[in-house]
Amino acid sequence: MKEIVGHQRVLERLRQIANSASVAPSYLFHGPRGVGKALVAHWLAAALLCPAPLGSRPCGECSNCQRVERDIHPDLRWTSLAPGRDSIGIEEIRAGIEAVQTCSYEGGYRFWIIDEAQSLTEEAQSALLKTLEEPPSSLIMMLIAHSEGRELLPTITSRCRILEFKPLPLELLSQHLLQLGYPNPKAQVAARIANGSLGQALELLANPQAWDRRAALLEILGRIAKASLWERLEAATTLEKLSLEAREEGPKLLRLAAGCLRDALLLQVGAKKELIINVDCQEILQRLKSELSANQLEAALQATQRALYLYRRNVNPKFIWSSFFLNFGLRV
Ligand SMILES: [Zn+2]
Repeated sequence: MKEIVGHQRVLERLRQIANSASVAPSYLFHGPRGVGKALVAHWLAAALLCPAPLGSRPCGECSNCQRVERDIHPDLRWTSLAPGRDSIGIEEIRAGIEAVQTCSYEGGYRFWIIDEAQSLTEEAQSALLKTLEEPPSSLIMMLIAHSEGRELLPTITSRCRILEFKPLPLELLSQHLLQLGYPNPKAQVAARIANGSLGQALELLANPQAWDRRAALLEILGRIAKASLWERLEAATTLEKLSLEAREEGPKLLRLAAGCLRDALLLQVGAKKELIINVDCQEILQRLKSELSANQLEAALQATQRALYLYRRNVNPKFIWSSFFLNFGLRV
């Protein structure tokens, strides 16, 4: 089975569940995106289907374990966000409810995993309620909800056993990335930017364009405080173009800028080195630290939050970046 990094306490609890007869009919795996909740859901399904002796489940080698891992076990149903959609609607949930009314194909437990459960519409959640209250026999439901999204209705959460997932500790995450063969300082920076999410760190490391965009942004941030009006407008055009390269790119760049400004503020107050995110661009951080006052850095940091808000309101990126750079570093 795929390696699960961290989450020892959650796994310990699930090990006890898998080795006893006290399996609850519904679980809610809640926590940050990309920390391994779906892997753990697979682990629990495999552990409950695996015929290996108690204590060594899931073995990872039997047919049940293999099919669960590859998502082809007939008693494992998976519902998730359809590509391009931002919610899971009532129709998908009704189809799931109908499908889980049948008996287990292989005579053991059956599983219905609902990934991205924070995207369930209120209607879909209400439709799910009855199945959670009176689950068909041998059905185990696992809802995977990311803490970054909407919260589920209390009527849903109160019917599930909740397992809270925490961000992975920075040290564990960087060590794991180094073990996977990613070089330093890239591995260190990715671990810090990902904020405890292995999935996000791996996504970033696998995307050379994302590093190029970050480098372009950092280069601009390093000189924008002393830039002329013309250079500021040029910087805004560059960022507008970069942010149009992919969906969500603009907000990602703004969050990177916020990380950089936060680093410069931390350096000003002499904070510990371990707290710095962008450890690979000391020169730029030093320039921001010496050229801007704490008030100016804080104002710029607030401007990133305002810009993120404007992105959520679908304001034109050209306006967002122009306003961000034209006001950057002004005396406050
Ligand atoms: Zn097995």
